Amino acid sequence: MQVFKFGGASVKDANEIKNLVEIIKNSEKELVVVVSAISKTTRSLEKIVDLYLTNSVETNTLIDVVFDSHKSICHNLFESVSDPVFLKIDSTKAELMMFVNHNKSPNRDFVYDQIIGFGELLSTIIISSYLNYVGVDNLFLDIRTAIKTDDNYRNANVDWRQTQAKVKELVKKNSLVITQGFIGSDDNNFTTSLGLEGSDYSAAILAYCLNAESVTVWKDVSGILNADPRFFKNTTLLNHISFKEAIELSYYGASVIHPKTIQPLQHKEIPLYVKGFKDENPVGTVINKGVAMDPLIPCFIIKNEQILLSISALDFSFIVEENISEIFGLISKFKLNVNLIQNSAISFTISLEDNYSNIDKLLNSLKSRYKLKYNTDVKLYTIRHYTDKNIIDFEQGKDVLLKQFSRGTAQFIVR
Ligand code: ASP
Ligand code: MG
Repeated sequence: MQVFKFGGASVKDANEIKNLVEIIKNSEKELVVVVSAISKTTRSLEKIVDLYLTNSVETNTLIDVVFDSHKSICHNLFESVSDPVFLKIDSTKAELMMFVNHNKSPNRDFVYDQIIGFGELLSTIIISSYLNYVGVDNLFLDIRTAIKTDDNYRNANVDWRQTQAKVKELVKKNSLVITQGFIGSDDNNFTTSLGLEGSDYSAAILAYCLNAESVTVWKDVSGILNADPRFFKNTTLLNHISFKEAIELSYYGASVIHPKTIQPLQHKEIPLYVKGFKDENPVGTVINKGVAMDPLIPCFIIKNEQILLSISALDFSFIVEENISEIFGLISKFKLNVNLIQNSAISFTISLEDNYSNIDKLLNSLKSRYKLKYNTDVKLYTIRHYTDKNIIDFEQGKDVLLKQFSRGTAQFIVR
């Protein structure tokens, strides 16, 4: 059994969907295919959540836009407007309208999860129907019946015991299964989601439960590169990365693979391939056990929108354990993430990420007791496996506010 995952770009229009179907046709017969929402759909659904929660009259208009755009892709795939796919899309829309018209809960995270999964439902309905249309038998699996989670909406935790049992029961041997990434359901069967970009993780969950041979993530790039080509010239494809190195890279912010993906695969030593869906002979990158990286070359990673905060005592006394414990307590309370720490006798400097817009609350709580200096909107660069020359080249012409070196990793905060 193999697991494939296709992201939003690989299903963005009729041509890409045809390409995906070719890849499936050329693959082994025992296959589970996990698909994300068609590109930009998740963003539109987030917009719908906001409109809905503010009682905006635009809610239904945007819902129409989303469903109509999926239908228009279908018009380019299916000859007849009486193909069952159109009815399925209509009944999926009716399911969403049912929620929108009857929900009473004001809980944003709950509402978000009840709406956000429709992107994945739509993309998989289209793919499963199109496979039927071209004569490829497949089983459409509503993943919410298989991946069971707690009710921590928007970042739900998998109930591995229940999930394992359901996956084994529902995924039939010797079949081609088409299913959704990103979502699951709680004990009351309400939809939950696994965190943005969570479809990679869904593929790993399924592979783990099925003891799959491998997972392949199909992307619009040829594999994992040593740097993001949007920001760096002369990038190189990495052939092999170890599980441990992949966890390190995603920790530092490489947007290769959703960070939660690796652990279940590492546990069972299931290799993860990253391949380009546009490639003639896709080779890509494999994440597996073995050497850290092949070729072993420097990797460059950027995290944008960091806040660099230096904290010192008002009377310039030392920053001691007690202070640090208090500071971290507040950071955790306000759900900020710490990406780098540097300590000196009289000051304590951290690079923070503020995903919940709480930085003002943190600063307010600290400023009565500490002297604060900070820069917002700085970048954190990480170079894994750096060389001295890398460092010299890198620093040239940059306004470096802080740097830190460990054996394998160099980090820079740059304005
Ligand atoms: N569609 C979801 C997102 O955009 C999940 C995914 O793409 O993995 O975050
Ligand atoms: Mg995606």
